Amino acid sequence: MINKQIYLDNAATTSLKKEVLQAMLPYFKESFGNPASIHKVGREALEAVELARLSIAKSLNCDASEIYFTGSTTEADNLAIFGVLNGIAGKGEIHPPHLIISPLEHHAVLDTAKEMEKKGLIELTILTVDKYGLVNPNDVKKAIKENTRLVSVMYVSNEVGTLEPLEEISSVIATNNSSKPYHVLFHTDAAAAKYLPLDTQKLGVDLMVLGPHKFGGPKGIGILFAKKGIKITPLVYGGGQEKGLRPGTHNVPAIVGAAKALEILVKEGENEGFKVRELANNLIKGLQSRVSDSYLTGHPSQRAPYIVSFIFKGAEGEAMVLRLSDKGIMVSSGSACTSGQLTASHVLLACGIPQEEAHGSVRFSLGKDTTKEDIEYTVEAVREVVEGLRKMNPFWK
Ligand SMILES: *Cc1c(COP(=O)(O)O)cnc(C)c1O
Repeated sequence: MINKQIYLDNAATTSLKKEVLQAMLPYFKESFGNPASIHKVGREALEAVELARLSIAKSLNCDASEIYFTGSTTEADNLAIFGVLNGIAGKGEIHPPHLIISPLEHHAVLDTAKEMEKKGLIELTILTVDKYGLVNPNDVKKAIKENTRLVSVMYVSNEVGTLEPLEEISSVIATNNSSKPYHVLFHTDAAAAKYLPLDTQKLGVDLMVLGPHKFGGPKGIGILFAKKGIKITPLVYGGGQEKGLRPGTHNVPAIVGAAKALEILVKEGENEGFKVRELANNLIKGLQSRVSDSYLTGHPSQRAPYIVSFIFKGAEGEAMVLRLSDKGIMVSSGSACTSGQLTASHVLLACGIPQEEAHGSVRFSLGKDTTKEDIEYTVEAVREVVEGLRKMNPFWK
């Protein structure tokens, strides 16, 4: 047995930061109130929720009234896509409203869009990307039509790490909006955007989604930023929480923890990101020089600091994940949400990677605890695992 554990799956989830747990604890016990109760215990909980909202708004450079809490990142994405477009579908001058998305989107966006299209609620355009997974802002411009109401392009690909040109896309949309009688909104799923600027005004987004458990916060909470004045219909009905947009008793500890985690990310993100990027570059160089017939996916430089995704030809992704796990290294193959399915990742296919090569993908996602030694150990372990699997592959040269 190997005692070592090297966790390189920080794009799937992260461990809760110490300070975050500390901030959350009182709201499980002493301050357990329901924010909807008007007595003292309730008001204490309400205050915690509203302070968290203020702190998040500060981190994102927006107004506290523009922040909504949901039960997960997936739910926040659903609210942004379904909530915005369903409010338009069947009403007013346009039917169906047109949605433009990138082909790299997480299933939280992709499947919501496809389901709405299937039900005849929207018209859907899925853009193409280049081999690095980059959306061309000019393609967005060309895809916008009279009935276009929403564009959704993720900030960072959670699978290959490519950084999308949000500001350029936003400027294309703004130019369009200024000369047309209709208004196109811009949504970004920023759940994988760690160590990067999150200023909503600079990015020029109307809607943005964050996933706290991806940056040291708790699971079971999603954050939606929606600019003032955007009409959104709820996904669930009940009480009046979150202005009726997301009814249900607030998950107070998770909300407090989400705000704390974001505060730390904004404060320490740049330094930590710098360190992580250097280690990620070591990993890329190490794999490129030590493992033959392999290549990096995603953009070579325009990428998130912490995600390194590789194709190892002649080896199968899930087998590599399991064998690396036996050596104490936790990674994933493509997106964690797509493993277990036999289909190749839609993200890798969108980048033009052939089906059989796409099966050989492994994603390493580094974190604040990753060390230089971890990276060296990992490169050697990957080399052994890949060679072992190739020996068993009758089709390998
Ligand atoms: C993780 C992730 C999600 C979904 O988050 P859940 O916590 O599973 O709801 C959505 N989009 C991206 C880009 C992600 O990385």
